Amino acid sequence: MDVDDIDTIAVLGAGNMGHGIAEVAAMAGFDVHLRDINEEFVQNGYDQIEWSLGKLAENDQLSEAEADAALDRVEAYVDLEAAVEDVDFVIEAVPEKMEIKEDVYTDLEAAAPEDAVFATNTSSLSITDLSEFTERPERFCGMHFFNPPVRMQLVEVISGGHTDDEVLDLTEDLAEEMGKTPVRVRKDSPGFIVNRILVPLLNEAAWLVHDDVATIAEVDSTTKYDLGLPMGAFELADQVGIDVSLDVLDYMQDVLGDTYEPCPLLVEKVEAEDLGKKSGAGFYDYENGGADVPTDEIRQDVADRLTAVMANEVAKLVGGDVADPAEIDEAVMLGAGYPDGPAKMADAAGLAHLHETLVDAHEASDHPRYEPAETLAEMAESDETFHGSGDEDAGDGRDFDAVTVTVDGNVGHIELDRPHRMNTISGELLDDLSDAIDVVADDEDVRAILLTGAGDKAFSAGADVTSMAGNADPVDAVELSRKGQQTFGKLEAADEPVLAAIDGYCLGGGMEMATCADMRLATERSELGQPEHDLGLLPGWGGTQRLKNIVGEGRAKEIIFTADRFDPETMADYGFINEVVANDEFEDRAWELARDLAAGPPIAMKYTKRAMLAGRDDTDAGLQVEAQSFGQLMNTQDLMEGVSAFSADRDPDFQGE
Ligand code: NAD
Repeated sequence: MDVDDIDTIAVLGAGNMGHGIAEVAAMAGFDVHLRDINEEFVQNGYDQIEWSLGKLAENDQLSEAEADAALDRVEAYVDLEAAVEDVDFVIEAVPEKMEIKEDVYTDLEAAAPEDAVFATNTSSLSITDLSEFTERPERFCGMHFFNPPVRMQLVEVISGGHTDDEVLDLTEDLAEEMGKTPVRVRKDSPGFIVNRILVPLLNEAAWLVHDDVATIAEVDSTTKYDLGLPMGAFELADQVGIDVSLDVLDYMQDVLGDTYEPCPLLVEKVEAEDLGKKSGAGFYDYENGGADVPTDEIRQDVADRLTAVMANEVAKLVGGDVADPAEIDEAVMLGAGYPDGPAKMADAAGLAHLHETLVDAHEASDHPRYEPAETLAEMAESDETFHGSGDEDAGDGRDFDAVTVTVDGNVGHIELDRPHRMNTISGELLDDLSDAIDVVADDEDVRAILLTGAGDKAFSAGADVTSMAGNADPVDAVELSRKGQQTFGKLEAADEPVLAAIDGYCLGGGMEMATCADMRLATERSELGQPEHDLGLLPGWGGTQRLKNIVGEGRAKEIIFTADRFDPETMADYGFINEVVANDEFEDRAWELARDLAAGPPIAMKYTKRAMLAGRDDTDAGLQVEAQSFGQLMNTQDLMEGVSAFSADRDPDFQGE
């Protein structure tokens, strides 16, 4: 079966997850049969879909017509047989109880077409065990959405012990059709990827407090402001629900042993019904102000312990062939909002150091949770890293086509290297840039990043729009927008100061990239601007969000709405360009400034950047709207007109269609 053969999807369970999954499927154009055990529950789920689609339309993430059409595609059912008799794919999201799921699969097997695929949204139960309640274990897999499905990008696609590879391929294709990013979990392993990293981390945080090694404030200060995670560990435990993490740990302990023994502190909280935010109190009291994580109680030993425990889980997943480091990083970044993946964080901390941290902690406590995984011990011994660049020089081990990377002293130099195409930004360039940022960030010598464009015509003339229009699917366009947003976001979140040195055109996507640098230098002959509106597009790689942080909303709107080209002096007045230099002094001055930045205090630089970024408004919500809108614009006549006018070098005549 091909994803094009899927027309109708049944979603079993109209609760928290079920209604969200049904909504996402309906928005992607599938007919959806939503089933729950009684009228009230299924109607409740349907009403929530209606409400949520209404909100998306209100926020311009969908048109009213699209929201209505999506709702029309959802049918509510109580009768199981009627709900599944003619469907192609079933996603089960009933309560996380083996007995309930067993009953559901027994009835489902009898009622569903023989060739329909079954996918479970379980967070923790064994996919293999669940598949064995059916007579089609080879057409059964995990399809783990994150909460809320409408907003969360990740879907873990999990193989059971009997799953056919084609079924995994199909499920990944389906997740992509739904506008999500699937990550394959090759083995049915407790916690899959994201929970396998997060939950032991929360457990370790609790053990540190339980064993009087650190306070809650110190642990959360360290996780949030040193490791740079979106929340403190205890803050996250409260957010997720302490009972939920405890259930996952109990299951891990059952299957994998006492390494995952839940910390008594978690058990006590659950027994006292202090479950976190949802019950009003957990580790913090939400009726009296909630989590208040101090910025200044960071402890290096706590950072080491937590990172070591995460690295150990990464090593187990890699060693057990559940997923590779890149997949783990992608899953955790998308599923848990980490700015960097855990494998990358472990590489940065040094695997040998983390291994030693585990060995020392094991000696001191004699608890099995500190036993280093064999894979970690071997990698530490041979001085390897998860991402494989070892202690090689920057740039080695990865051939870049669209960028060049060199390290000169303490400056990592990334040059966009498509001078024949005015350094326009292609998908390949985004991939290369993303890897190049990793390479320079992994190099201990690098203390500042200099970003330039090859040749003397352009820093970057933007995205290659002519190749995007006409043949681009809106779903691909949303994906492309997200990919650019993420890559540029990575540049913005780099620990080192980034200087964009601009000589020539700095337009559209090129300007959005430069916006993610910390400082910008431009030659007198440079031209800057966001010409997207001339094409009937919007600045979809962060332009609607980040530019205003630098020039203020009024100027940002002027730059975007006029779609004009601006000279560097004007842009300096607007605060976008820090310094304008004579054309012939460009290179010397760029390097001089980059070296100045590299001479600054690296730790203070890192924390200043993180603090400034963390203090911003909700850019993520804005980026989400931007990516969706970018997808919508792909279908407009105005875009065709904009691109034709651009190619013919005439003024566009937009009709608003
Ligand atoms: P929920 O309790 O909100 O919803 C479950 C729904 O299933 C309820 O409406 C219930 O009436 C219904 N139900 C019970 N028996 C049924 C049956 N026989 N047929 C159809 N419906 C039935 O639970 P939830 O949070 O949506 O979780 C559902 C599944 O998704 C669980 O396996 C859970 O582990 C998983 N999950 C949850 C989250 C989360 O954050 N809530 C995230 C990822 C995965």
